[in-house]
Amino acid sequence: MELFEMTAAGLSRLLQTEEISAVEVVESFLGRIEKVDPYVKAFITVSAEQALQTAAAVDRQRAGGEKLHPLAGVPVAVKDNICTKGVRTTCASRALENFIPPYEATVIAALHRLGLPVLGKTNLDEFAAGASTETSAFFITRNPWDRERVPGGSSGGSAVAVSTGMAPLALGSDTGGSIRQPAAFCGLTGLRPTYGRVSRYGMVPLASSLDQVGPLAMDATDCALLQGAIAGYDLLDSTSLPDEVPDYGAQLEKPVSGLRLGIIAEQQGEGFDPEINSAVTRAVRVLKENGVIVDEISLPHQRYALSAYRSLVSAEFSSSLGRFDGVRYGLSQPGENINRMFSQSRGLSFGPAVKGRILLGTYILSAAQYEKYYLPAGRARTLIARDYSEAFQRFDLLVGAVTATPAFKIGAKRGDPHQMALADLCLVGNALAGVPSISVPFGAAGGLPVGVQFTAPPLREDILLRVAYFLEQHRESGTIRPRLSFLEEGGGE
Ligand code: GLN
Repeated sequence: MELFEMTAAGLSRLLQTEEISAVEVVESFLGRIEKVDPYVKAFITVSAEQALQTAAAVDRQRAGGEKLHPLAGVPVAVKDNICTKGVRTTCASRALENFIPPYEATVIAALHRLGLPVLGKTNLDEFAAGASTETSAFFITRNPWDRERVPGGSSGGSAVAVSTGMAPLALGSDTGGSIRQPAAFCGLTGLRPTYGRVSRYGMVPLASSLDQVGPLAMDATDCALLQGAIAGYDLLDSTSLPDEVPDYGAQLEKPVSGLRLGIIAEQQGEGFDPEINSAVTRAVRVLKENGVIVDEISLPHQRYALSAYRSLVSAEFSSSLGRFDGVRYGLSQPGENINRMFSQSRGLSFGPAVKGRILLGTYILSAAQYEKYYLPAGRARTLIARDYSEAFQRFDLLVGAVTATPAFKIGAKRGDPHQMALADLCLVGNALAGVPSISVPFGAAGGLPVGVQFTAPPLREDILLRVAYFLEQHRESGTIRPRLSFLEEGGGE
């Protein structure tokens, strides 16, 4: 087995016993990126030199007998909306095409402190505003299971990097599904942590009241390892939670029996691909056979989730993107007066999907519309959050689909923001409620991976990871790596 085929936990074991060096590990993944990335285009920037430097430092420390974090020397790919000091951070936007952050996001500082080399920065929908990675200003990323299909988004590059063995782990961000949906489309385990569990400092916002950074990995064990490395209180993020971070890995093997599981009526069934419904049903069945107590639950305000989410995200987005005015940084165009200068700079900075959201958000926040759209969206959010907290009086976790269909064809929903938004149906209610959710690969639909989604009460990522781990042991198909037949056929860009 090549190093790039191993999980993070497997690499960690060999690194700790010094059977392999961190430099060898990084070199293996860099070689894989060189070979595979031309066919799928997951990376915007590869930071080979920095990754090798971190790896060499880890090897030196280990040789010196220092006690290191289990993941020291295990590399990570990072979504390109998370600031990396000295490494270009573009948000897949012309606005930031040449932006080299002078500071480090808190999660990146944690990776450096623990010795995880950063392999590079991955592609996304421009400013993370999308669900397909098609709206990147630079190029689209392809799904390695079928290159005619999207990898999901917006963390599509991160998902593809892990699924093809270009990185053992990746960081994504999830505002309303951007970790969970690409994880489902590519066959990975993707966790959206509780709002505030992982620092957002240095993540370029899509909508600050919803944004969360989180891990994408091949399995629950790796997901737990990376989540443990990035979670924790941060003084620099005012919404950061002070609670102690548990040892997620130590709880994976705890039995699932006795857990009370609610099947969300609105998140499977009619309107969902039959093979997706069947994956949910089979996951529930195997849990039930192992002592999980199952019942149905309805989240009555779920029907407002999509429109509330759209309104709130657009409003927050239009206000946070106000900073890209061409004056302080970013793309800057001259103009005969200050207003022309702003509009020329912003006009060239953003793609149509981003402009559409800015327009919608600005409209919603205007004095005449605020009471009509923004305030009711906030009220709906409260009702949705209440549905979840009431559900968690009866249940320890909830289950449903991640998406109604598996990965769709490139171009199928482009230019139709309504269809694209509908794809977020199961992903935004839990995000609005601030509760943690996980996408667990289970089953397949027409040869494409399918994810089942679990949602838990605040700070109970441990339950989600435990159930993900359990289902892994009961998966019909062993391997969830795509066969990259295109590598033999050639034709990469
Ligand atoms: N697809 C959702 C949207 O377009 C989610 C984006 C995200 O989570 N970053 O808003």
